[in-house]
Amino acid sequence: MGQHGFFHHSGKMTLWGPAMVMLLALPLALIAGNLSAVLIYVFDWIAVKIVILFATIIGLSFAVYGLLRVGRIRNTTFALVVGFLVAILAWTSSWVALAQALIDGHPWLWHPGDLYAFAQTVAEQGRWQKGDQPIPALVTWSVWVIEALMFVSVITVLPWDYLRNSPYCEDCGRWLDANTSVGPFAPGGDPYAIRAEIERGNLSSLLYLGPAQDAPYWELQLRYCGLCENMYLANLVRLTLDDEGEHKRHKLIRNFYISRQQYDTLWDLDKPDKLKGQL
Ligand SMILES: [Zn+2]
Repeated sequence: MGQHGFFHHSGKMTLWGPAMVMLLALPLALIAGNLSAVLIYVFDWIAVKIVILFATIIGLSFAVYGLLRVGRIRNTTFALVVGFLVAILAWTSSWVALAQALIDGHPWLWHPGDLYAFAQTVAEQGRWQKGDQPIPALVTWSVWVIEALMFVSVITVLPWDYLRNSPYCEDCGRWLDANTSVGPFAPGGDPYAIRAEIERGNLSSLLYLGPAQDAPYWELQLRYCGLCENMYLANLVRLTLDDEGEHKRHKLIRNFYISRQQYDTLWDLDKPDKLKGQL
C-alpha cells in the first residue's frame, strides 16, 4: 500500500500565483471595504447594515479562497498572510470611506492617528441613536471592536482553513475532485483511537462500518485524483440532526490517505450486496 497518514500541503507555489493573488486580492479589498462602508452609511436599518457587513466578510473570504485556488497556492502561511492583508486593507478603507461620507474635504489618505481621532469624535458625538438619545461612546466603541475582530479573524482564518483542507495532487498539478459520500453508518468507535490507528496506517475500524439505526451517524467522504488515479483520501464525518430535522456535518478526521483497494472497499460499504461487483 502507498502513502498513509494525513494529507498536508507541500508548501509550494507557482511563480505567478502569489503575484496574481496579490494583484487581484488587494484592489478587491479596497473596493469591497469602500462599497460596504458606503452602503452601511446609506441604509438606515440596523438589520440591513449587519447583513451588508456579513456579506462583505463572507464574500471577501471566499474571493480570497477562490484566488488561492486559481493561483495554485499550496502554501498555508501565504494564505494566512493574504487573508490578513485583505482584512486589514478592507477594514481600513471602510473607515476612510466613512470619514469621507461624514467630513467635507474628502481626504483619501489618512494617518492612522488622524483616523483614530476621527473615530473618537464620531463616538463622542454618538454614531447611532436610540430613541432621541445618542448611544454612549463606550457602546459605539464596543460595536466597532467586535466588528473589527470579526473582519480580521474571519477573513484571515476562513480562506486558510478551506485551503488546508483542499487536497492537491502534486504529481498532476491539480486540485482533487469533489467528494463522494458513503453512508450513513452507525458510529464505529472512538474517533481519537481511530485517528491514532490511521496515523499508523491501520484502517480496519472503518472497513467494517455497519448500517445506521439512529442519528448521530457517521459518513465517509471519499475523493481521489482522477488524472493519475494514484491519490486517494477520505474524511470521516459525524452527522447529527438539528431541531428542524436538517443534517449537520462535523468532520471528525480530515484528509487521511487510503489505498485504491481501500477506496473500493469503503465505496462498497453502503451498497446492497447484490450491486457489489457490478458497479
Ligand atoms: Zn494526480
